[in-house]
Order: sequence, then C-alpha cells, then structure tokens
Amino acid sequence: MAPVSVRLPDGSTKEFEKGTTARQFAESIGPRLAKAAVAASFDGTQVDLDTPLPDGAEVRVITADSDAGRDVLRHSTAHVLAQAVLRLWPGAHFAIGPVIEDGFYYDFELPGGAHFSDEDLETIEATMREIMAEDQPFIRHEHTIAEGLSLFADQPFKQEIINAVEAGQDEVDATGGTGAGAQVSTYWNSNAFTDLCRGPHVPSTSRLGHFSLMRVAGAYWRGDEHRQQLQRIYGTAWESDKALAEHLHRLVEAERRDHRKLGAELDLFSFPEEIGSGLPVFHPKGGTVRRLMEDYSRTRHEAAGYEFVYTPHITKSELFETSGHLDWFADGMFPPMDVDGTHQYYLKPMNCPFHILIFKSRQRSYRELPLRLFEFGAVYRYEKSGVVHGLTRVRGMTQDDAHIFCTREEMGAELHATLTFVLSLLRDFGLEDFFLELSTRPEMKAVGTLEEWDEATEALRNAALGMGLDLVLDEGGGAFYGPKISVQAKDAIGRTHQMSTIQLDFQMPQRFDMEYIGADNGRHRPIMIHRALFGSVERFFAILLEHYAGALPTWLSPEQVRVLGVRGDHEDYAHKVADRLRAVGARVGVEPADEPLGARIRRAKLLKLPYILVVGDDDVHAGTVGVNRRGSNDPDRGRELTDFTAELELEIAQRRLPEAP
Ligand SMILES: [Zn+2]
Ligand SMILES: [Zn+2]
Repeated sequence: MAPVSVRLPDGSTKEFEKGTTARQFAESIGPRLAKAAVAASFDGTQVDLDTPLPDGAEVRVITADSDAGRDVLRHSTAHVLAQAVLRLWPGAHFAIGPVIEDGFYYDFELPGGAHFSDEDLETIEATMREIMAEDQPFIRHEHTIAEGLSLFADQPFKQEIINAVEAGQDEVDATGGTGAGAQVSTYWNSNAFTDLCRGPHVPSTSRLGHFSLMRVAGAYWRGDEHRQQLQRIYGTAWESDKALAEHLHRLVEAERRDHRKLGAELDLFSFPEEIGSGLPVFHPKGGTVRRLMEDYSRTRHEAAGYEFVYTPHITKSELFETSGHLDWFADGMFPPMDVDGTHQYYLKPMNCPFHILIFKSRQRSYRELPLRLFEFGAVYRYEKSGVVHGLTRVRGMTQDDAHIFCTREEMGAELHATLTFVLSLLRDFGLEDFFLELSTRPEMKAVGTLEEWDEATEALRNAALGMGLDLVLDEGGGAFYGPKISVQAKDAIGRTHQMSTIQLDFQMPQRFDMEYIGADNGRHRPIMIHRALFGSVERFFAILLEHYAGALPTWLSPEQVRVLGVRGDHEDYAHKVADRLRAVGARVGVEPADEPLGARIRRAKLLKLPYILVVGDDDVHAGTVGVNRRGSNDPDRGRELTDFTAELELEIAQRRLPEAP
C-alpha cells in the first residue's frame, strides 16, 4: 500500500502506512504527547483521534491543556451531561450544548415542564461520573437527513436542527455538511445515547472527569422569547483537578473583588436609578481616586508632547454624517434631539471628528506635525440594558483620548513612542503582565489601498516587536478603516483585560479631506492615529479596584492615613499628627474617640486604608505614633513621627506599589 506523507507543525514531513490514525501519529512522536492528546487537526480542521491521516495534510495534535483542547474536553463533557439528564429524566428533550468561555452548557426540556433544582446538580454530577467510569467511546457516524430525522424521532429540537441543515442553514452546534445531499453526523456513546454533533470529541468518556456543574438557568430555545423556555445547566471542565481548582478559586476571588461591591463598601461611586442605567456618579472618595488618575495622566501626556483640547458633548448630525458614524455606528448612539425644528443634535459617541475640526481650523504645515491632541473626552454610547455592567460597560464614559496627526515618515516613530508610553503608564498603576494583539486587514471590506495597509501593519508590527512582549496575531480582526494594536494585561487573578488600543485610520483623513503643506510645498494627507491608554477612565478604575481588591496603592488611596487617639484626651495630639502629615501632602482623617479603639480600628481596616496610626499617652510625650500598616497584624509602636512622615512622603512621591493581594 502506498504510504501517506504528512507535514508536522515544524514544517518537516513524515511518512506513515495508509490507515494510520491521528492517535498513532501522536504515539509516533512520543508517549507524553499521546497521553495529552484529545483530538487532532488536519490542515486546520479538527478531527477525532481515530481519524486516519490524509495524504499531504498538515497534522497537529490538540492537547488537553491548550485552548482548543479544553474546548474539546468541555464539549465532550456537555454530551455526558446530556446523557446523564436523559438517564435521570426519561423522556426529556435535549437541545444544544456548546462550549462557552471557561465552560459549557446544555439546554433541556424536562417532561411535564419540570425545572431543575440546585440539588439536582449533585445527582446529575454523580451520574456523569458513572458514565465517565463506564468508559463509553465516542463513535462517529454519518447519516442522510432522513436517517437523522428517524434517529431523533422523539427529539423535536434535534429534528429542527436537522431540518435546518437540509434547508442549507449553517448550524453552529451540531452538523456536518449543508444543502442538497446534506448529511449530518452523530456520535454514539451507548445504545441508550447518541447525539447529533459535528465533533470532535475525546476518544472515550473516561478521558473526562475534571469538571464541575455550576448553576441552572432558564433560556429560550434559539434565544427567542416566543419559543419554548428551556432549562440550562452550566458547567466547567479542565485538563486536571489542579486547573479546575484554580478556576474555581478565580471565580471566588472575582466575586470578592467585584468592583460594584467594592464601590459601595468603600463609598466610591454609585448608579442612581434616577439618572439611568450605565450612568455612574463618583462620590468624593471615588472622585479623589479618579482625579489622581487623571492628574497623573495629564502630567505624562504633557511630558510626551501632547497638547490639550476641549470639545463639546453634542453636535449637529452633519458632523457624524461626514465622519461616517451615522452609517456604521448609529446602533451605538443615543437617538438624536430635535433643536429649533431645524437641526438634529447627537450626543457624541467618539471624540475623533471634533479633533479633526481643530486640525482643520487653519492650514497646517509639516513643521507642526506630529500634532498630538489630547482630551479627557466624555462620550455616550447606547449599550443595550442587558450588557450594561458596573463601570466596565457604561452608557456614559470618559476616554483619555488623543489623536495623532503625522506624516507617513513619522508614523513608525509615533507608534513606537505611543506603545512605549502606554506600557510605562500601565506599569505605574501596577499592571505588569502584558501581551500585544495585532489586528490586520479584514477580508470583506476595507478602505485604503493594499499598499497602505501593508505599510501601516508593518509599522504597527515593528513597533510591537520592539517592546519585547508576546505578539498575538488577530488575522482579519482590524476595523475596516485601519489596523490596530491592543494591549492586553493580566490582572492579579490571571484574567486578561483589553486595556489600550492604538488604531491607524485611513478613512477619516479622507472623509474630512484633511491635508497639510509638505516640505515640497505640495498638499499631503496626514496619517491619523487614534489611541486611548486607560481606554475609559471608568473601566480602568474598575480594573484597578479588582486588581488590588480595593486596597489601592497609597498614592491613589483617597484616605492614606487615619489617626486614632486611644482616649478622648489624645485627640489634640491626633490632630497635630494629622496636620504634620497633611503638611507633606498626605490625605489624613482623624476619628474622635467616642467608641472603643478596637471598633474604630476594625472599621478603618474595612476601608482598606494604607495606614492606621494609634496614639496614646507614651506617644503624646515622646512625639511618636503606633503604625498599623495595611495587611500586617504587627503594629510598629513608638515610631518617631518625623520618621514616619518622611517615609510616607517618599512612598507617595515614588508612587510605590503594594503587592497585589
Ligand atoms: Zn459534540
Ligand atoms: Zn478616535
């Protein structure tokens, strides 16, 4: 028999006997790889491990600890969940069971319209473990539409999916092949359970086990409120018990750090219903943090050669017609207001066109470029009420927004300087763990010539490579008007947040017919770079709060020190201490001794203040303080006030960062 030849990920080729499976391929490379394998991919298409190698394909092994591998584990676990529910509730209908971020779900309709209870999850989980112990294989079959319909004769949701496949619709969860002569694929686990699915899956249910069912929820079939209400079970699955435990720990931590909860506990901000969904107000303490963030940002922008501008919150519709926002961003905008019956005004969703008008307010020379216009610009976006979330998805926000207008020759240096700037700024706030994502030209629709895209993408890539960070390619993920780089940062519990973006734009300079006079006295179109470093101040605030679990660095804390007298007759001295500290710029509170000391200390600790100073008889006489440092249960008594003051002043001036808790 003629051998098959396949390519390995490293570019080398290897020959195998015809009929060799992906699993045998993994074994030929090494026992560790074979053990970690859950599926494979042939030329990018995922397949089961028992699929024979096709001649000429590039073959990759998908291991359990990769993103794709976890998806295979999660999806396979969803099938086991469905089998368990059908075993426990004979006559139940099962719908779809896709993978979601960090987990999976499956939707069911129980006989007699019954609902799952939280207690049911334990029973279902136990049954799932039985199915895993039974070591059931996942065996793939292909069927005609008619065969599929008869196989799932008593499963209306599966029937609907199969009919949709026949009608040529692309079904996300459960098909193979579309249109005329369509086929569907199924996976047989046991005579009692077959599911419709495109695969791939782990070879056997015994390969699974590091999972947990999370919760029950209601969901409409096809997400359509006019259709059946189904019962959804959410679960998570991982490659090991350790990875599962880490994930569950992250969830607990995420809840403890939830910025909405911390915002209320620490009296930082709120969302008054009277104002409306997604429109926060900042209280004095939150306002202080925000002012410090903004002041710091202004100082840095000034040093980096930015000029400060201010623009209004509303504009006539013509501006957003010219910019194109009304064509491609109208859904994200609040509806217009009629003014004087002559004009429609819009709240601005972006600041860009305003800054362009400042550029265009007079003729510009190449000598003025790069022109960097900065503004803390308030923008309003119509987010659906279902997606509004704390400070991270709001309807009114403030961007630390700037637009850089430069020549083509200056573009590379500007991008490099901007990336250097953003990383240094984020590090000053204590974010350390970054990677970059480069989003390139979308295939379908894009303005600008291929040459322009190539040049701009290369400039972005070079700037990114110069940072010495991991660079992830988001092929085709750019906006139609230009490529971009986004900075992704990991927080203290390992979550990735998209922070800053640097976006090149070929469209706006064209739409607004922007130009400058070059050294050759000719007219040239400037390059436009959009960039926001915090992104939005509100969202950045939320990310910081969660990163530090509310225990902000001393330089950002609204109250840095609280002074407590042991008794009422120590209060005078407490005030003297506070004045001394305020004289070096510290934010200090003094609380009267009208409650026992222990209660006052506990309350101050709940506010996560960096320092609590306790002063008693000895301190009054010796000019000392007792220092309780945040996170330490070991007070430093009898500390010279002069000493402590100098240390605090330095800590603030250097913007020293605590260990993220
Ligand atoms: Zn499946
Ligand atoms: Zn912009």
